[in-house]
Amino acid sequence: MDFKEKIRVIPDFPQPGIRFKDITTLLKDGKAFHAAIDTLVDRLKEKEIDVIVGPEARGFVVGAPLAYAMGVGFVPVRKSGKLPAETVEVGYSLEYGKDRLAIHRDAVQPGQRVLVADDLLATGGTISATIELVKKLQGEVVGAAFLIELSYLNGREKLSDVDVLSLVTF
Ligand code: 5GP
Repeated sequence: MDFKEKIRVIPDFPQPGIRFKDITTLLKDGKAFHAAIDTLVDRLKEKEIDVIVGPEARGFVVGAPLAYAMGVGFVPVRKSGKLPAETVEVGYSLEYGKDRLAIHRDAVQPGQRVLVADDLLATGGTISATIELVKKLQGEVVGAAFLIELSYLNGREKLSDVDVLSLVTF
């Protein structure tokens, strides 16, 4: 299936000059969504993954169905202050300003094999912060999976020690 044609590109969103990749057009197409998740699952089947960790909010939309299909657990990473139990946090830089991401302290056990997942890899800041959280819990990050990779932003280079898988490249 041509997944690229299922993704809508919105010029000048959220600000002038940005060409936003809108995955809602892929998600609402049941066959395309199903095929996208199945394709990722197929490409990840050799990895022996114990748990999938995804950052809010679109990381849930990719990570949770992947985890369900693979029969493993899903762990949410959220903005600071949203998770109810004890957390570990990390600060990270956004294009404008800074933010903090959090994970439940007991969400990943030391030595567990973790796949991190999000909808899109741009500069790699979000997924690097997610990986840092997993490492703080002594999880072993065995890969990073995305629907979309913006190769011109070189996020993959930031993740040099992680095996990166993406379905569509712009
Ligand atoms: P990064 O941290 O790699 O620079 O940016 C990736 C994060 O920003 C992801 O969590 C993703 O959801 C969001 N993001 C940035 N640009 C886009 C875009 O064009 N489309 C979508 N769907 N998400 C984006």
